[in-house]
Amino acid sequence: MKTLKKLFFLLIVVSLVAAVAFYFRDTTAPLLSLTPGSGPITKSTKILLSLEDSGMGIKNVQVVVVQGSERSPLLKRDFPPDTKQVDLELDLSVLKLQEGDLQIEISAIDQSIYHLGEGNSNQQVFSLTYDSKAPIISLLSRHHNFTKGGSGLVMFALNEEVETVGVKFANYFFPAYEQDSGDYACLVVYPYDIKDSDFVPRVFARDLAGNERQLGIYYRAKNVKFRQRTININDKFLEQKLPELEDLAPNIANSLDVFLYVNREVRQQNREQIVEFGKETSSTPLWDGAFMRQPRAASLAQFADYRTYYYKGKQIDKQVHWGHDLASVARAEIVAENSGDVVWAEYLGIYGLCVVVDHGLGLQTLYAHMSQLDVEAGDQVQRGQVVGRSGATGMAGGDHLHFGVFVAGIPVQPLEWWDASWLNNNIDNKLSSSF
Ligand SMILES: [Zn+2]
Repeated sequence: MKTLKKLFFLLIVVSLVAAVAFYFRDTTAPLLSLTPGSGPITKSTKILLSLEDSGMGIKNVQVVVVQGSERSPLLKRDFPPDTKQVDLELDLSVLKLQEGDLQIEISAIDQSIYHLGEGNSNQQVFSLTYDSKAPIISLLSRHHNFTKGGSGLVMFALNEEVETVGVKFANYFFPAYEQDSGDYACLVVYPYDIKDSDFVPRVFARDLAGNERQLGIYYRAKNVKFRQRTININDKFLEQKLPELEDLAPNIANSLDVFLYVNREVRQQNREQIVEFGKETSSTPLWDGAFMRQPRAASLAQFADYRTYYYKGKQIDKQVHWGHDLASVARAEIVAENSGDVVWAEYLGIYGLCVVVDHGLGLQTLYAHMSQLDVEAGDQVQRGQVVGRSGATGMAGGDHLHFGVFVAGIPVQPLEWWDASWLNNNIDNKLSSSF
């Protein structure tokens, strides 16, 4: 009898310990996070609610959206035992929301029996701003005349802060820059190689909440035909350039293959590098008046010459000339054609020793094949300042300057920027009317 009593007592003690252990098994509240948990949102913003409970699992969650005195239940969900982790997407589009401040109240409870069976709970409030309206774009420039291969400027105003703004068409996007006046200026290119029907420029703006708007502009696009040119590559040229080109095309034995590698692959890499330069630009224009063509220099190859390369009578390559070639005497002084900041003054593949000057709004000039550089990246240069001397470094047969103009890294026709009346009518007058 005594042993039975003892056993019974032991059983009670054991159950009690087990019950206490069970009661205290999970005393930590579930973790919750909301992404985004602050800032502006719109109807279509994907809001992710993540719940986690490493103890006994999540039991349920409730979500209420609050605007002023209006409380709208959005979600109530129970979970099966042992639910350690849950991701839920909140769909605000089912609610009728007002523009402005908004709170999302979340309360999650776990499966624990702690707190007299109520479990551990976590309640949090997230403050966001509801913005369902796309930015309003007011066009300020009226006429937009583009010539194929050339540039143009679009000016406009916006009614709110934006995350992305510019002009787009096909696969192109040209960023717009906010000016001191608050207006936006956007240099746009009618690319020399685009299909005419693909050139339909539109202003595009996306606000901080993600609302987007596009606006068509009135424009005229003039098509032009570019020249076809033949370039003969001979053994003398290959022999003379080989030591330099070999550094750009390692592990290629045949000299013609070295040439082709540089003319294709290195050319493409350099193009991509110039697109990167285009992002390092001043948001306001740094140029002052028309670009000065290099003094006393004769024109050689022109912008967008379509070149076919031959070797021993056989066609070996096709490329387009992304600049305008000028020559005077050997080792001629080369000047910055307008004021700006030097973003590159080093060797760069097919361009050899070269200088790139940023003039703002994504507009940059390139001075290539030089024999000597007199500036460094980071220098400010004035219109007409000597930046180096001409030469034949890179993919050049003789001493000349390859002059390139780029907008957001896209090569454009330099002739326009040398033309004072074109510059006034199409760019400078539009910019100054906004100040
Ligand atoms: Zn050239």
